Amino acid sequence: MDDLIRQEVSLAPYSTLRVGGSAAYLAEVTSIAELQEVLSFAKQHTNVPPLVIGSGSNVLFREAGYPGVVVVVGMTGITQAEEGDSVLITAAAGELLDTVVLHAVQESLWGLENLSAIPGTIGATPVQNVGAYGVEVSDLIVSVTALHMETGEQRIFSNEDCQFAYRESFFKTESGRKWIITSVTFRLKKDPAPQLEYGTLAELQSIQNITPQQVRDEIESIRAGKFPDWHHVGTAGSFFKNPIISPTAYDELLAQYPDVPGFETEHGIKVSLGYVLDKICGLRGYSNGPVCLYENQALVLVATKGARASLIENFAREITNRVEEKTKIKIEPEVRFV
Ligand SMILES: Cc1cc2nc3c(=O)[nH]c(=O)nc-3n(C[C@H](O)[C@H](O)[C@H](O)COP(=O)(O)OP(=O)(O)OC[C@H]3O[C@@H](n4cnc5c(N)ncnc54)[C@H](O)[C@@H]3O)c2cc1C
Repeated sequence: MDDLIRQEVSLAPYSTLRVGGSAAYLAEVTSIAELQEVLSFAKQHTNVPPLVIGSGSNVLFREAGYPGVVVVVGMTGITQAEEGDSVLITAAAGELLDTVVLHAVQESLWGLENLSAIPGTIGATPVQNVGAYGVEVSDLIVSVTALHMETGEQRIFSNEDCQFAYRESFFKTESGRKWIITSVTFRLKKDPAPQLEYGTLAELQSIQNITPQQVRDEIESIRAGKFPDWHHVGTAGSFFKNPIISPTAYDELLAQYPDVPGFETEHGIKVSLGYVLDKICGLRGYSNGPVCLYENQALVLVATKGARASLIENFAREITNRVEEKTKIKIEPEVRFV
C-alpha cells in the first residue's frame, strides 16, 4: 500500500449528500499513470469492479460502503483549438464543469453558458448527459476519451457512440460503466449563439449584443434561488428524473390535472416533476425527520444534520409512492445509489 491508495476511507466527504459508509480502498488520481496503477492494484486485491467518481454530486453512498476501490478522478487541464467558426475545448475529466464554463465565457465562446453553476466534474457530464435551461452537453460534445478498467484500452467515443438521451448515455449501461472517462471535447461557437428560450431566460432576448457572461450571471442568479448551497447542506440537486410518459398517459394526466406542464421529446412527453410534487402532491418543503424536499424547488432533496443513507432512501421511496398514488407515474431517481 502506498500514499496513493488509502484503506477504509469514509465516503461521506466524497458525496454532496454527505452520508455513507467506508470504501475498502480509495485513491484520488491526478494522471493516467496513477489511474493505471490503481486499476492494477484493484485487479490484484479486490473482487468487485472499481467505482469511479468525480465530485460525488450525483451519488448516494449507502451505509454498507463500497467493498472495492473507489477511484476519484482528478486529472486537470484545459486546451483549445480553432476550427473554422468554432473552438474545440478539451478538458480533462477531473476539471470542474463550472471551471470550464467560466473559461469558455471568459474567452467569449458560446455553448456552455447555460450550464453555469452546476456542481461536478467534466468526466461525469457525459454519463447522465448533464443539462439545464434548454442545453444538454450532448449538444456540444464532439468526443469523449475513456480508458477501459479491465483491458486498459484507451478509446475515443464520438458523440453518436455515446448514445445520449435525456439524463442517459452509453456510460450508464453495464458495459459503459467499465469505461473511465479521462477527457471530453466540446465544440463552442465564436459567433453569438445565445439559447434563451427556456423559462425566464426569454427576458434576456431583448438585450442587444448580449454576452455569454451576461447569460452566465442570469443563470447563476436563477439557480441561487432554486437550489440550496451544496457547500453547506447535503443535497444532490434534482433527486429524481422528470418522467417521460406516452402521449396517451399524458392526456389521461391532463384530464385530471389540466395544468401539468409537458414537453415533447423523441421518446414521449417529459412531465415537469417539480410541478407534480409541488402542485399535485403538495410536497414542496415536505420533511420526514432530517430529510426534506427543498422549499424553493420540490425536485431537490435536502439532507440535514442527522440524515443517514437509509433515511434518504426511505424518504425517496415514500415520495415515489406518493407520486404513483396520485398520478400512476413511476418516477426514478436521477442519483446513483451505491
Ligand atoms: C445543487 C446541485 C444542482 C445540480 N444541478 C444539475 C443540473 O442542473 N443538471 C444536471 O444534469 N445535473 C445537476 N446536478 C447533478 C450533478 O451535478 C451532475 O450529475 C454532475 O455531472 C455530477 O458530477 P460529479 O463529478 O459529482 O459525478 P459523481 O456524482 O461523482 O458521479 C456521477 C456518476 O458518474 C460516474 N462518473 C463520474 N466520473 C466519471 C468518469 N470520469 N468516468 C466514468 N464515470 C464517471 C459515477 O460513477 C456516477 O455514476 C446537480 C447537483 C447538485 C448537488
